[in-house]
Amino acid sequence: MSIIHSAPRLLKPISSHLVWDIEPNGNDIFLTFDDGPHPQITPWVLKELEKHKAKATFFLVGENAAKYPEVVKMIVDAGHHIGNHTYNHVQGWSTSAYKYYRNTLKCEEEFTTPLFRPPHGRITRSQHIRLSKRFKIIMWSVLSGDYDRLLTPNRIINGVVENTVPGSVIVFHDSVKAEKNLKAALPEVLNQLSNKGFISKVIPYEIQNSLKVRGEGS
Ligand SMILES: [Zn+2]
Repeated sequence: MSIIHSAPRLLKPISSHLVWDIEPNGNDIFLTFDDGPHPQITPWVLKELEKHKAKATFFLVGENAAKYPEVVKMIVDAGHHIGNHTYNHVQGWSTSAYKYYRNTLKCEEEFTTPLFRPPHGRITRSQHIRLSKRFKIIMWSVLSGDYDRLLTPNRIINGVVENTVPGSVIVFHDSVKAEKNLKAALPEVLNQLSNKGFISKVIPYEIQNSLKVRGEGS
């Protein structure tokens, strides 16, 4: 399995309008965590990040945010950013653009943010057109694969560390499915990336000038 997730074929026509990596300032990288908040796993992630003074962006599922608003507050109070990941972790390719948009807006009843990441990275052209008027759509350049139970923690650590460059957007998951690999891999990933001089920052909310969008020039 390639640890670098290339754009799915159906995304190609719109991929130049999605954010895959970010113009770095020095050695900045951008850790992201999808599918939370979770009442135990997310606070554990926050503690690990704090040890390295690392900041991250959490793409939250609306129904989880509704269940655990105190965890959302913990994330924000610790100086991290949050993004919309739909209300029910909706699969874009099997959902109409209207339903997808409604589900994403339902998430806004829990919190608002200008950042959005499509679950599974799957979004159709018409969904993208609707959402891009309201959100900056953030993909990734390094996929940890933490949710994949066939991958060992060592493979995840090496894959992330070897593929990270300044500006990388790296995906982990604060979810039950990924918990075992996440807890085994994240502390070592943070150690090794710190040792290489990388500093994880939040994906900025003021996105117009700070994001490099592939295909739109340098
Ligand atoms: Zn997800």
